[in-house]
Amino acid sequence: MANKLELTMLGTGNAMVTKCYNTCFTIRNGNDYFLTDAGGGNGILSQLEKAGIEIGSLRGMFVTHGHTDHILGAIWIIRIIAMSACQNKLKSPFTIYCHDEATEMLTTFCRMTLKKKHLDTLGRQIILQTVSDGDKAECCGIGFTFFDIHSTKKKQFGFRAELPNGKSLACLGDEPFNESCTKYVAGCEWMMHEAFCLHADTDKFRPYEKHHSTALDAAKTAQSLNIGNLIIYHTEDFDLPNRKTKYTEEATSVFSGNIFVPDDLETIQL
Ligand SMILES: [Zn+2]
Repeated sequence: MANKLELTMLGTGNAMVTKCYNTCFTIRNGNDYFLTDAGGGNGILSQLEKAGIEIGSLRGMFVTHGHTDHILGAIWIIRIIAMSACQNKLKSPFTIYCHDEATEMLTTFCRMTLKKKHLDTLGRQIILQTVSDGDKAECCGIGFTFFDIHSTKKKQFGFRAELPNGKSLACLGDEPFNESCTKYVAGCEWMMHEAFCLHADTDKFRPYEKHHSTALDAAKTAQSLNIGNLIIYHTEDFDLPNRKTKYTEEATSVFSGNIFVPDDLETIQL
């Protein structure tokens, strides 16, 4: 039987949400998990616990960029992995992939906040792997290509993942798709794209002022890029109980593929 290949959304909200966790997720291949972003703090540990994901099964992670709602939880991941390493419970080194700016931020945070014995695991059991635009790496049996999403706000990377089942998944971080990333994203079976709010609520949430987009925009992009399955995330949490229905309805009007608007802790079979 083939390995379980699934995506678990640990959080699905934007930076300032209070009714769900900040956007972050794991990709599972069998018993190994790859984490992307970690939300804004210690809540990442409870989200992992609620999802039933053991710290010991995390093999690596990717940090998209240095904004609070994505990078600060990574300190808690480093801390708990460092604790495992110190107790000789870590089976193999844990690798954190991110661009140079995020590497520098993580190194500084760790130096300023961690105990010496935990800090000493950096570079040994915990590897900070700086990646540049177009760099490739393999983790959890998944082939990643990391790329610059060309943010106008803060340097940010996304990735294209080649899954062991032959399908591909593109993660665009928390900003709208940029044309220059077409070669990484076009034709992917899966695309993860942010939507700050519904197009119908543009006046209320003003997504474009924050360089975010709407469910309608994400769906138009997915249609133009010939995507099979669109995952919409990094949203407002004003009407969470109805988010799935409303966002799906809006996206369906312009996208003919499958639409997923996951709630926190929801798992999607890839
Ligand atoms: Zn964000």
